[in-house]
Amino acid sequence: GHPVLRAPARELTRQEVLSPDLQRLMDDMVGTMRDADGLGLAAPQVYEGVRLLVTEVRSSRPDDPEEPAMPLMVLANPTIVKASKQMADGWEGCLSIPDIRGMVPRHQAITVDALDRQARPVMVDLKGFFARVIQHEIDHLDGVLFLDRMK
Ligand code: ZN
Repeated sequence: GHPVLRAPARELTRQEVLSPDLQRLMDDMVGTMRDADGLGLAAPQVYEGVRLLVTEVRSSRPDDPEEPAMPLMVLANPTIVKASKQMADGWEGCLSIPDIRGMVPRHQAITVDALDRQARPVMVDLKGFFARVIQHEIDHLDGVLFLDRMK
């Protein structure tokens, strides 16, 4: 119910991304995500209204195509620049909304433009489950929760 979850987050400058404060925030967010066993975390979830997210999918069987892993990514100012028309339904939960899961439609594939933690421009193509995780986190930067997207 915290209002920061509903407030659109603001863009970061390259200088801010490189600042010690932001670099510390990134480390804290990675630690919080891992402690909570989450797949992603957006800055508004830790009361920081800036466009920053971290994500990582760890797999107990990384070579198993049924259980792929996604390396740690720190993305500032992420924007979806391309999204497939094809949608897919999948179950989602959220660290900010304990004990609730919902079936949420998401674009099957997306291309995301962002800055990495060294403030370098990056372009990431994502499909399936990973595309879902990033869409969920980018929604947090716009004050949107998965509950809003449930059919
Ligand atoms: Zn969430």
